[in-house]
Amino acid sequence: MKDSFGREIDYLRLSLTERCTLRCAYCRADEGYCPKSQELTAEEFILIAESAVDLGVKRIRLTGGEPLLRKDLLQIVSGIASLPGLSDLSMTTNAQMLAELAADLKAAGLMRLNISMDTLKPDLFNDLTGGSLQKVLDGIQAAIEAGFDPIKINCVLMRGVNDSEIDDFIALTENHKIDVRFIEYMPIGGSNSSDRLRVNNQELVAARSWLVPLAPRLHGQPSSDYTYEGALGRVGFISPISHRFCGDCNRIRVMSDGCLRTCLGRDNEVSLRAALDEGKAALKQAMSEAIVDKPARHCFDQEALAKRNMSRIGG
Ligand code: SAM
Repeated sequence: MKDSFGREIDYLRLSLTERCTLRCAYCRADEGYCPKSQELTAEEFILIAESAVDLGVKRIRLTGGEPLLRKDLLQIVSGIASLPGLSDLSMTTNAQMLAELAADLKAAGLMRLNISMDTLKPDLFNDLTGGSLQKVLDGIQAAIEAGFDPIKINCVLMRGVNDSEIDDFIALTENHKIDVRFIEYMPIGGSNSSDRLRVNNQELVAARSWLVPLAPRLHGQPSSDYTYEGALGRVGFISPISHRFCGDCNRIRVMSDGCLRTCLGRDNEVSLRAALDEGKAALKQAMSEAIVDKPARHCFDQEALAKRNMSRIGG
């Protein structure tokens, strides 16, 4: 399935809920919120996934909010994992509840995990998120024991907050088969503190001449990946601001309230609710029409910031 710019759309992100166990300031800047009673059901998410796979989607990521909060998560995972034609099913999580769930998720068919962790300092972690660093570390350990490989760590660096830890994060990739990715702070949810706090990924790479670039592993991959001598894992830089990657964008998003969004950094949305009630043919029609209208590029550099915050869109 191609959009009007000829980009192959083969990647769907499903934001399973807007609820979250953490309160990260950069993620929850606006007031909007989809209550649990209005979230799509497991069956609806699976039907959306099935329709997307029929249209050519090959990879699906579950995100949120915090996807582990969904009581029916294993049903969603196994329903989507069993779709013929899907090659990759992954999840992004804050890992606060992962230690108890990692083995069941693997058994249900989840293939890969990205875990958000912005600092290696327990007190700072609690200040930034309201959560427990130890729970994240326990979750990573449980995920390794369950057989997830590779595990990716997502880190949003903020100037003067956690940017002194960049080399400590990179060091995690030396002895562990863990990939670390640094995501530039994006202006989402009406917050403009991102400009003041953002760390420019191009500058981080330029200051580390020992990083060796690697070829992309996947179509539409937003990260530029690197290795260095002796490293077991990779170091990735996701740079939507300093190095726009919209030209290769292959993704669409469906959020927990049933709205489809074709660009993280634009507020154009289409509700799939009516089509969901009509069935798969109507759903595929609604999704195809929305995909054709996918904008050429995000507008993070303009005044009109994306209004929904990241915890609603799903990162
Ligand atoms: N709750 C899950 C978690 O914490 O991983 C999944 C949802 S969270 C919205 C997904 C990713 O978006 C996280 O890695 C988070 O760091 C990132 N994120 C949230 N707000 C961001 C922002 N303003 N700029 C860059 N990344 C952001």
